[in-house]
Amino acid sequence: MSDGFLRITNLRKHYGEGEAKVEVLRGITTSLARGEICVLLGPSGSGKSTFLNLVGSLEPADGGSIGIGDAELTTLSDREIVEYRRSQLGFVFQFYNLVPDLTIRENIEVCEYLSPNPLPLDDLLNSLGLWEQRSKFPNQVSGGQQQRCAIGRALVKNPSLLLCDVPTGALDYNTSKEILALMERVNREYGCTIVIVTHNDAIKHMAHPILRLRDGLLVEDVANHDVWPAADLEW
Ligand code: ADP
Ligand code: MG
Repeated sequence: MSDGFLRITNLRKHYGEGEAKVEVLRGITTSLARGEICVLLGPSGSGKSTFLNLVGSLEPADGGSIGIGDAELTTLSDREIVEYRRSQLGFVFQFYNLVPDLTIRENIEVCEYLSPNPLPLDDLLNSLGLWEQRSKFPNQVSGGQQQRCAIGRALVKNPSLLLCDVPTGALDYNTSKEILALMERVNREYGCTIVIVTHNDAIKHMAHPILRLRDGLLVEDVANHDVWPAADLEW
C-alpha cells in the first residue's frame, strides 16, 4: 500500500471476453499527495478514461484498491459510494453535458446544492473567467467557455478530488494549455487534488507529476521540476 491522499494499488480492468477481451489496466500502482495536480498521458485507447472512471467509482475495478483520504473505495457499500461521489468528488466529462435551457450561472448553481460546503459562486465565476458570460446560455458562448462551465459545475461543490477528462484530440494546444493554467489557479485558490488528462505538448515545462499509460501499464511516474511559465493567465 502506498502513502498519499490518493492511493492506487495494483488496479486492474478488462472489457469483453474470449477473443474480444481487452485488458485495459493491467496493474496500476501510484499515489498522489493532497493538493497535488497530476497529469495523465497516453495514446488514444490506452485507458485514461477507464482509469478516471474507476477512481471516480463510476464503474467497478476487476481488482486492486483505491484509497482516497480516509476511505478505501473497494470496501464501501453502494450507498456509501454514492455519498462519497456526491461529497468528495468532482468529475469533468469529455463531453460537457451542459443543460441548454439554463444559463452559465444556473448550470453551475444546480450543482451547488449537492454540497453542504459549496464554494462562493460569484468568486468561482470570476476565477473561471465566466463572469461576463454568466447570464448567457451555453449555445451563446465558445467551446472553451462551455468547458470552463463544466469545470465550474464539478468544482462548485468543493470536492477534495477533481477528475478532469479533457478530450485530448479535440482541443488545440492553446486550449489545453489554458485549461491546465486554469487547473493550476483552481488548485492554488481552492486546494483540491486534481488528476487531468491532457496533451503531451501542453505539459512541457510543467512542474507536476506525470502518469503515462501504455499497454495497460504505467510507463512513467515522474516529477518534472521545470517551472511552467503560463501559470498566470488573463482572460
Ligand atoms: P482513452 O481514454 O485513453 O482513449 P479508454 O479508457 O476510453 O481510453 O479505452 C481503453 C480501451 O478500452 C479501448 O480499447 C476501448 O475501446 C476499451 N473500452 C473502453 N470502455 C469500454 C466499454 N465500456 N466496453 C468495451 N470496451 C471498452
Ligand atoms: Mg478517453
